[in-house]
Amino acid sequence: MSHTHPPTCAQMDALLSRLDLGELDAEEQRQVEAHLGGCPSCRETRAQYARLSEATAALLTPPLGAERADAIFARIAQRRQPLAEAEALPEILTMDEVATLLRVSLDELEAELEHLPVFEFAGQLRMRRSQLFRWIEAREKRAHLRLMAADAGR
Ligand SMILES: [Zn+2]
Repeated sequence: MSHTHPPTCAQMDALLSRLDLGELDAEEQRQVEAHLGGCPSCRETRAQYARLSEATAALLTPPLGAERADAIFARIAQRRQPLAEAEALPEILTMDEVATLLRVSLDELEAELEHLPVFEFAGQLRMRRSQLFRWIEAREKRAHLRLMAADAGR
């Protein structure tokens, strides 16, 4: 890219969602840092993504005994609230926004569509933010129960 405009806040969200995945090139990283320096709102978004990936990393770290799982789920429950209430998120989400929130690609999201509480309007798929968070919560509980069962079986 020889000529680039500074990213808008909306473009920043897409960049920030990829930051912790190590997917940004040097130019994008430079733009993110320059924008964060002057934008408190995007710094808050950045902090939310950081908390989310920290919680995800903690979940994926084996071995995970029941006691440890309890502590992690308690921490996620504490952290879920600020994200759910983030004013940046509208109640009706596009599939792009859902994919960004879940940190998966659109293709990966589409492969799981039948499991998601989506609805169709004017030929477009949409999801309610509150439904998405309830759905995540239900999946967390299922994962938790599986971990407890696995732990009891040892
Ligand atoms: Zn911004």
